[in-house]
Amino acid sequence: MIEIVSTSACIACDVCITVCPTDVFDRGDDGIPVIARQSDCQTCFMCEAYCPVDALYVSPVSAPAGPDSPHSDEATVIRHGLPGGYREMVGWGRGRTSGALRDRNPLLKAVPPLPESRLPAPAPLADSPWNHPSG
Ligand code: SF4
Ligand code: SF4
Repeated sequence: MIEIVSTSACIACDVCITVCPTDVFDRGDDGIPVIARQSDCQTCFMCEAYCPVDALYVSPVSAPAGPDSPHSDEATVIRHGLPGGYREMVGWGRGRTSGALRDRNPLLKAVPPLPESRLPAPAPLADSPWNHPSG
């Protein structure tokens, strides 16, 4: 569950507010997101994965950590290098290798890639109605 927005690290980019599927954040007057509806958090880690400056911490526990928990203490979480840990694990961010490329799941590795000839040829951009400017 989302526990921490680091006000000192946040650059007020709004990305976490946009990607959160359950609208947990409100934008504060200073642009820093505020955890407004913590109980709606699904512990999906999307906000942490997308935050470009590792300003968020999502606890792996799917319930509020509470004021006495190390999961809600920013200094402790930073000391353990946890903010942005999910983003690092999945390999998002400059200079990292995608987690999909590092995957060693033998089942997934056993599935051969589709031959390219079975993939439909992509439509030319100009022919797609999705690319036409509206109005
Ligand atoms: S973990 Fe998911 S549901 Fe929770 S605040 Fe982040 S994006 Fe929203
Ligand atoms: S994604 Fe990170 S930097 Fe951007 S508003 Fe959210 S906490 Fe701040």
